[in-house]
Amino acid sequence: MGFCINCGNQHQDGVRFCRFCGTAQPSEQLLARLRAESEQIRLLVLQMQQQQAHAQNDAYARLEAMRLQAEAAARNQQNQQYRPPGW
Ligand SMILES: [Zn+2]
Repeated sequence: MGFCINCGNQHQDGVRFCRFCGTAQPSEQLLARLRAESEQIRLLVLQMQQQQAHAQNDAYARLEAMRLQAEAAARNQQNQQYRPPGW
């Protein structure tokens, strides 16, 4: 069973024209090619999503490093502020 690419009605596999609206239907060869292409696109999207996740991890690691630096700087300043004079 397939579906008309125009009206969406169900029709037998392998028909060349929809019996409801008369629109020419893609051949099995074309459908197979489209399926292969959509599979390739799906893989590409997956790849891109993984790369994005990786980039986000990198950004997070950089932010965390900056936060640690800021924390260390704040501790140093506190130490200097609370150090009694003459030390
Ligand atoms: Zn149709």
